[in-house]
Amino acid sequence: MARLRNYYAGPAALPLEALEIARDELLDFQGGGVSVMETSHRSKEYDQVHNESISLIRELMGLPDNYQVLFLQGGASMQFAMVPMNLLGPDQSADYILTGSWSKKAVKEAKIIAQANIAATTEKDGVFTSVPKQSELNLDPKAVYCHITSNNTIFGTQWHQFPETGSVPLVADMSSDILSRKIDPSPFGIIYAGAQKNLGPSGVAVVIIRDDMLAKCREGLPTMLSYKTHADKNSLFNTPPSFSIYMVNKVLNWIKGRGGIEAVEKENIEKGTLIYEAIDGSGGFYKNSIAKENRSLMNVVFRLPSEELEKKFVAEGLQAGFLGLKGHRSIGGIRVSIYNANQLDSVKEVVSFMKEFAAQNG
Ligand code: PMP
Repeated sequence: MARLRNYYAGPAALPLEALEIARDELLDFQGGGVSVMETSHRSKEYDQVHNESISLIRELMGLPDNYQVLFLQGGASMQFAMVPMNLLGPDQSADYILTGSWSKKAVKEAKIIAQANIAATTEKDGVFTSVPKQSELNLDPKAVYCHITSNNTIFGTQWHQFPETGSVPLVADMSSDILSRKIDPSPFGIIYAGAQKNLGPSGVAVVIIRDDMLAKCREGLPTMLSYKTHADKNSLFNTPPSFSIYMVNKVLNWIKGRGGIEAVEKENIEKGTLIYEAIDGSGGFYKNSIAKENRSLMNVVFRLPSEELEKKFVAEGLQAGFLGLKGHRSIGGIRVSIYNANQLDSVKEVVSFMKEFAAQNG
């Protein structure tokens, strides 16, 4: 069986080593005679997986003890609602910086619950090709938090330097770049991410919440929508998505085995350099219109001279074994998603395909 090179934006490629271990353990997890999927979430076998996953996230991200790591369901989209529900009273407001479709979805939910100030938007004619500069932010010093999307999966932009918000905590949707680079957690009150890009399969979202934010969370919410419920019960209030968390565990161990975030980040920079050089060096055949300092190292988007050529690129790519090259349906073009599991060799292969395709069709 030949596995394809996979550039889908999410669910996305997982490290082969993680999949192989899961395959080997599928029928009999740790000699218990059943799969991890079939074991109780209160069993000692599952407990070890659950707690090790939390410790690994802490260790790899360098999180101090005053951050809690939660495993929740409902994807990152549920967090669009849970963040404002938990943190905003009716007279309070939060800042939202709009850098793409996902931040627009986040602010829509906040507005249902309370007030939201658009501190900046880089939308022009329906597209986003940059993230705002510090001087472009209209920040409210009384905001309860300032929400950003650290990497914009659809438009292919990324914050390489986070905005400075003074004493207002940042809340970040890191769905498409969590664990891809070293970050200083201290400005962040909450970090959340759907797992299905850099962390594992779909079905679980990771929420990292600082104790002072947890203390500010409102009472009287439906039990399952309250961060306090999940923090108090170590994400075991109800049945967690145990198999998804198990896969996240395998991915985290894989990252650790590679040398941690520093090693992963170094390779991600190398990968990004390689593919953007191929775009910029194509004599205008491939065009990426993102501000250079905001280009994403995770989702590389570009256009070809015509939509016909883009279709041909996707079709010939697939024939050559490259899956998922089509851009998001809302903007078209090409998108090559190169999360942690797509290592340098995979990026080299797609770059050589790009060069051949340009030579034949340019
Ligand atoms: N935020 C970002 C940045 C995303 O890329 C996505 C999914 N592609 C989401 C949120 C939504 O995630 P989910 O499908 O897990 O709700």
